[in-house]
Amino acid sequence: MKGNFPTNKFAKIETPFYYYDVNLLQQTLDSIKTESGKYGYEAHYAVKANANRKLLEIISAAGLGADCVSGNEVKACIEAGFPASKIVFAGVGKTDKEINYSLSQDIFCFNAESVPEVEVINQLAAAKGKTASVALRVNPNVDAHTHAKITTGLNENKFGINLEMLPEVIKLIQSLPNVTLIGLHFHIGSQITDLSAFEDLCVRINDLQDELESTLGITLPNINIGGGLGINYEHPNHLPIPDFESYFRTFNKHLRLRSGQKLHCEPGRSVVAQCGNLISRVTYVKVGTVKKFVILDAGFTDLVRPAMYDSYHRIENLSSNEEYETYDVVGPICESSDVFGKDRELNKTKRGDLIALRSAGAYGEIMASQYNLRELPKAYLSTEI
Ligand code: PLP
Repeated sequence: MKGNFPTNKFAKIETPFYYYDVNLLQQTLDSIKTESGKYGYEAHYAVKANANRKLLEIISAAGLGADCVSGNEVKACIEAGFPASKIVFAGVGKTDKEINYSLSQDIFCFNAESVPEVEVINQLAAAKGKTASVALRVNPNVDAHTHAKITTGLNENKFGINLEMLPEVIKLIQSLPNVTLIGLHFHIGSQITDLSAFEDLCVRINDLQDELESTLGITLPNINIGGGLGINYEHPNHLPIPDFESYFRTFNKHLRLRSGQKLHCEPGRSVVAQCGNLISRVTYVKVGTVKKFVILDAGFTDLVRPAMYDSYHRIENLSSNEEYETYDVVGPICESSDVFGKDRELNKTKRGDLIALRSAGAYGEIMASQYNLRELPKAYLSTEI
C-alpha cells in the first residue's frame, strides 16, 4: 500500500520539495490534545524538529506551547503566535544575546543545563530588573535504547546535571536573587518506541523527588519529561499517528506527581514526522554489474537523516504500478554516504518518475543544507497546492 498523494498536482511543481499533509498534522495534534488533556499535562512542541513557519502557526493555533533550543527558535515561535507564557528554552550553550532576548520576551522558563549558565541568567536578569524562571535539566542516567547519536540521558552525555550533584546545585540556585527554580527537566533521547524507557524515567523521577523532599524539603511545581516518543518509519500508511494514548498513560500510571505539580512534555518528531514527505524525481536509472541505482534529484542536503543516523525512510514510486524490482536509491551529491536506501523494492522505475521519501517531516527540511551549492528544498502544504 502506498500513501495517498495528489500526484497530478505534483506534476507541475519543481522537485525536490517537502509536502505536508495538513489533515494528518491536525489529527495528530487533536490526539495529543485529547490524550494529554485527560491528565492535565501540557505539551510544548519541540521546534527543532521542524520550524516551517506555516506548521508553527498550525501547531500554535492548536494550543500547544513551544520548546526552543536557540534564540532564533524563540523568535520564530513568538512570530508564529505562541504565547511567551508557553515557551521553554533549553540548550547547553545559550549565549548572552539569546538569554537577553528571551528575558525581554518574558518566556515561561529557561531549561538550564549547568551552574555557570544559571549564574549568567541571574546576572542578565538582574541587569533588566527581572527574575527569570528556571528549570534544571537533570541527567537521569536512563538508557533510551535508541540510536547512540540521539541518546541524551546517560552520564556520559553532555546534557543536564548529574543526579549526585543535584542537591548542591539546587542550594546554589536558591541563593541567587534573580532566578526562581520552578522545576526539573529531563530528556532521555529520541525515536523511543519501547515505552519501558519512559517507565524507567518515571521511577528515577519518583526516587529523585523523594530524595529532594527528605534532604532539602523541597517540591518544585513543574516536572518536564522532554520529548522522545518514536514513530513507525516502516509503516507510515498503517500507523500514521503515534500512540499518544499509551505514552501519556505510562506517565499517569508510573509517575507520582505531587499535589499541584504540573507535567510538561516536549514532543517533536511524533508531532510532525508522519505528515511530511520529501518528493523527488528520478534523474537516471543506472544499471551496474551487481546493482541497479535509482538516482534522485534529492540528496542528503534535502534529507540528511539516512546519511547522518543510518535511518530508514520508506520509499515509494508514485508514478509506477509495474512489478517490483530491487534498487539502491541514491542522491546526486559527491559523497558515498548520499544513499537513501539500499536494496529497496520499488515498482519498476524510469527517468522522470516521482518518488516519495516518507515520514520526513521531522529533522528533514530544518536540517537541509546547501552543500555542493544546491538549492534549499521548497515546501508546500496540502492546503495550498
Ligand atoms: N526536548 C529536548 C530537550 C530535546 O533535546 C529534544 C530532541 O533532541 C526534544 C525535546 C524532542 O525530541 P523528539 O523529537 O524525539 O520528540
